[in-house]
Amino acid sequence: MSKKKIKEIFIGSNNKGKLKEIANLLPQISKIYSNLDYKIKSPLETGTTFQENSLLKAKYFSKKTKKICLSDDSGIEIDILNRKPGIYSADWAGKKRNFDLAIRKVYLEIFKKDKNWKKKKITARFICVLTIFWPNGKFVSKIGKIEGRISNSKKGKNGFGYDPIFIPKGKRLTFGEMDPKKKYSIDHRSRAFKKIRKFF
Ligand code: IMP
Repeated sequence: MSKKKIKEIFIGSNNKGKLKEIANLLPQISKIYSNLDYKIKSPLETGTTFQENSLLKAKYFSKKTKKICLSDDSGIEIDILNRKPGIYSADWAGKKRNFDLAIRKVYLEIFKKDKNWKKKKITARFICVLTIFWPNGKFVSKIGKIEGRISNSKKGKNGFGYDPIFIPKGKRLTFGEMDPKKKYSIDHRSRAFKKIRKFF
């Protein structure tokens, strides 16, 4: 890995919600490239962990663009569902990435496990692994997590993905209801980013 500060980086993601959040974490002086400039298809996520998929994506996009690349693999783990959807969080939204569908599936699966679930605390966490991959083959990967619970109903229009049903521990609002700046300051992505901030 290079000791030189990263001045330009390709963000390897085709997820607009993630792109926006990652761009917000990076310092203003960084020149950011993304698939809005390059139009590269995402690779198949064949890994079995967030770590494997994050590295696989960063390496793939760095090889394609010949740039230093930052990738994110993330998702939500729901304890009562044996930590599903986990690395399959995006897949639960189907090919069209419809998160109304994914959230309906979450509620249905929880209901199948426990019909009285609304009276209980359904613990869950968001996980994010960020990887920086340099064209010389060096890389660094770091994990961030935030614990919380699943809300009894979908709330709020902010954010993306599962944000409307996740209430972080110690808070009352879902990520979907929270001011986006507040979410960025506490979430799994910013926790992972704090560990790689020194490279920027
Ligand atoms: P992947 O990392 O591209 O496999 O996709 C991860 C999926 O997890 C996303 O499509 C989102 O649905 C979900 N996810 C990850 N981070 C967040 C978040 O901060 N809020 C809501 N959903 C998230």
